[in-house]
Amino acid sequence: MEIKLFNTMSKSVEIFKPLVDGKVSMYTCGPTVYHFAHIGNLRTYVSQDVMKRMFIANGYEVKHIMNITDVGHLTSDGDTGEDKMEKGSRREGKSVWDIAKYYTDVFMSDIGKLNILPATKYTPATQYIQEQIDLVKKLEDLGYTYKIEGDGIYYDTSKFADYGKLGGQNLDDLKAGARIEFADGKRNVSDFALWKFSPKDVKRQMEWDSPWGVGFPGWHIECSAMSLAEIGDRMDIHSGGVDHIKVHHTNEIAQVEPVVGHKWVNYWVHMEFLNDLSGKMSKSKGDFLTLSLLESKGYPAIVYRYFLLLASYRKQLNFSYELLDGAKNSYDNLIKKIAKLLVCDDKKVNNSVVEEWKNRVLLTLNNDINTAGVIVLLQELLKSEVGVADKVEIIKFIDLVLGIRLIENANLLNENVDGDIPQEILYLAQARFEAKKAKDYAKADELRNKISEAGFVIEDRADGFNVKKA
Ligand code: AMP
Ligand code: ZN
Repeated sequence: MEIKLFNTMSKSVEIFKPLVDGKVSMYTCGPTVYHFAHIGNLRTYVSQDVMKRMFIANGYEVKHIMNITDVGHLTSDGDTGEDKMEKGSRREGKSVWDIAKYYTDVFMSDIGKLNILPATKYTPATQYIQEQIDLVKKLEDLGYTYKIEGDGIYYDTSKFADYGKLGGQNLDDLKAGARIEFADGKRNVSDFALWKFSPKDVKRQMEWDSPWGVGFPGWHIECSAMSLAEIGDRMDIHSGGVDHIKVHHTNEIAQVEPVVGHKWVNYWVHMEFLNDLSGKMSKSKGDFLTLSLLESKGYPAIVYRYFLLLASYRKQLNFSYELLDGAKNSYDNLIKKIAKLLVCDDKKVNNSVVEEWKNRVLLTLNNDINTAGVIVLLQELLKSEVGVADKVEIIKFIDLVLGIRLIENANLLNENVDGDIPQEILYLAQARFEAKKAKDYAKADELRNKISEAGFVIEDRADGFNVKKA
């Protein structure tokens, strides 16, 4: 069946054609592990996860590489400012390596709770330093680089004729709109660092030898070098948040295409932002929203995932607790309805009905990852005259696509209805169950305490839990 996907490069919805039949290669820009991911970052990863699930549901084998940015890149896009990892290290009095390990673990736990399928491989930037140096060397040999004394090796964007094509910018526009801080000695405002020298008077915690002197790689070079190493010189899909279009991904193309000598990525897919009341959510704002905070307030991670899937990944989404409450009620109702189906005795499956509905689901989803449309179909299915056993089969398929643990949570509800447990408590118990599965034991304990303060106890089973009145 056809899959339609919006390609930022052509600014249009295109029919997806893989490089190799039945296979999809995908690179998604991962987290910078100097702090918690906020729920905005997590929106991007959830959007990418449903994109991947869409291909899997259509029978594709997906190779998915995600980087972990554990080497510091600077706080400004203009290659100035502070190193984010060193900043995290000072904030917490730990080494940069410990910071990277801690926040990588938290990230893995967050994506586990959100039921995001693991990547085929996660590539930490610090494990690909040689590949990054080699790529800079190739660009140097081709004449794309210059040195700024005491600063680093820079990419001369005026040498790459196609520079800015992804974001629809040209070099003249960039000059006119010079909004990024200009490092001394740059030839063009859009030039960027490929390799930065360590400062003479400061010993950095992370630094490496290179043909140009001791230092560390620029941020953009990591994704180019690692995707070339892991995927090769052509790939189907490269994806990230919309903020990556004009600088990070633009620079990635400039680094790769002169070296490989042809078009590198077939589809550029960008995920829209989550906003809070004051606008774009960002880590530099201080008290940003984390998944863990939502869980403490009684919203399981999966409810947050459901909330996200009600909107198109290509539209900005505003976050508020009122909206999240709405999603929670809606999710709740779905689970209650599905729980009733699961206790019915009807086991007779009509394959042609199931196939027809699966096709409808794919037809909807394949229209540029239309998750909201699939949720509408699910509601329609629940109201329909379709037989119970068929409904259950179709819901299982929908759940593969959306990843919102419909069957799992409906079963949990069935196991706990007898005790007349309030929904709030079930949610806390469910959040605790997810925290435990993601090995976030501190969070699991915090939630267990809340549950017991409310007068309930949790009994763990191998495959789930039961909640009872204390
Ligand atoms: P970072 O860890 O800062 O490198 O960001 C990780 C991912 O989150 C990137 O793909 C960003 O484009 C994306 N991102 C950053 N802020 C937001 C936001 N408010 N909403 C959605 N995605 C975001
Ligand atoms: Zn990247």
